[in-house]
Amino acid sequence: MQPLSYQSTGVNYDVLDKFKLACQRAAGKTVDLLAAHEVSEPAGIRGESAYLIETPEEYLAHVEEGLGTKNLVADALLSLHPARGADGYFNIGIDTVAAIVNDLLTVGALPMVVAMHAAVGSATWFENEKRAKALADGFAEGCRRAGAVWGGGETPTLSGVVEPGTVVLLAAGAWSRALARMAGHELPVRPVRGWIALVAPGPPVLRHAVYEAEYTAPEPPVPGGPVTLADLAEGTVAEAGPPPVHALGIHQNADGTVVVGASRSAALHEGAESLAGLRGNARRACAMVPGIADREVAATWTGLRPFSHDGLPYIGVLDDGLAVCAGHGAEGILTGAGSGRLAAELVLGREPYTDVTPFRPDR
Ligand SMILES: Cc1cc2nc3c(=O)[nH]c(=O)nc-3n(C[C@H](O)[C@H](O)[C@H](O)COP(=O)(O)OP(=O)(O)OC[C@H]3O[C@@H](n4cnc5c(N)ncnc54)[C@H](O)[C@@H]3O)c2cc1C
Repeated sequence: MQPLSYQSTGVNYDVLDKFKLACQRAAGKTVDLLAAHEVSEPAGIRGESAYLIETPEEYLAHVEEGLGTKNLVADALLSLHPARGADGYFNIGIDTVAAIVNDLLTVGALPMVVAMHAAVGSATWFENEKRAKALADGFAEGCRRAGAVWGGGETPTLSGVVEPGTVVLLAAGAWSRALARMAGHELPVRPVRGWIALVAPGPPVLRHAVYEAEYTAPEPPVPGGPVTLADLAEGTVAEAGPPPVHALGIHQNADGTVVVGASRSAALHEGAESLAGLRGNARRACAMVPGIADREVAATWTGLRPFSHDGLPYIGVLDDGLAVCAGHGAEGILTGAGSGRLAAELVLGREPYTDVTPFRPDR
């Protein structure tokens, strides 16, 4: 989990305090307006946690309190425990009232009425009814404990204000590591090369897709692992590229073409640094499906699979304004829809449809 701090949530008291002082100076110029109501303010009350008005019979106190970061704790709990996480909002409801009332008590006043001001970046926040209800129930419970009535409130939707700008989603496949580094994050996505040959259209030769269950045993440098300087120094890696492993994957398309794969090898750079994977795929296909050995090759290509350190993609928020969805390895076409949905839900602050723990970038 990302560590939470005031600073990381955008709360900077050096900047805030300057604004607060400017407000106090401007507000002080309105004091003369109290005279028309035959009340006054006690000397020195400006800058205290609560504002006091002095009437001939009594003091009246007023506070306005905003709590803008505790929800991040509740959201973190929600993502860790989707089933029970909404409970965190109940506690935040109580806590919010407690913080308001605490400010009031500093001037010796007793709470009589509390109002809720719940600003959201988007009305979609309320779509998670369990979470919204937990917050409301917690706020009511806080009022009950403080002996004050919940008198009303305001729920502004501040699109683009509470959540300013956009979130950048880093989804650059095998190129994600270098981009993440630019933002100060280490994301161990390593490129694993694969080769494919496309055999020209011909009569039916395969009734099923054929996949070998396991890849051949790897030699260092292992696909998905690091290529070390020693790997370059010894053997033929520098000249011939890292050695491939193979598992035949072959199927015939409706137009009669046949797709022949699959190889995996650690990759040093983007270009076709070694054709050994292509040769190995062809050899296996010829040996196991001899009927296509004489067919013409229509095309060949190579691509980089983005391998994570443990085979699962990294999906989550890296920073304020930066999220990631990368590292899908050999199955990103199959899994892309699900991981894309999860990334969107995390970025939008919605309840994730599945447990995010296995995909957390900091796991
Ligand atoms: C030979 C081969 C066979 C495969 N077979 C299968 C299969 O059968 N089934 C399966 O599920 N998966 C398969 N895969 C894996 C699948 O292709 C990947 O898992 C999937 O493409 C990863 O999706 P992605 O969106 O995370 O990354 P990518 O598809 O790699 O997309 C990343 C994109 O980011 C772009 N990009 C990079 N840098 C920048 C930048 N600086 N600015 C802007 N854009 C940038 C890239 O151009 C690319 O378009 C295969 C892969 C290979 C190579």
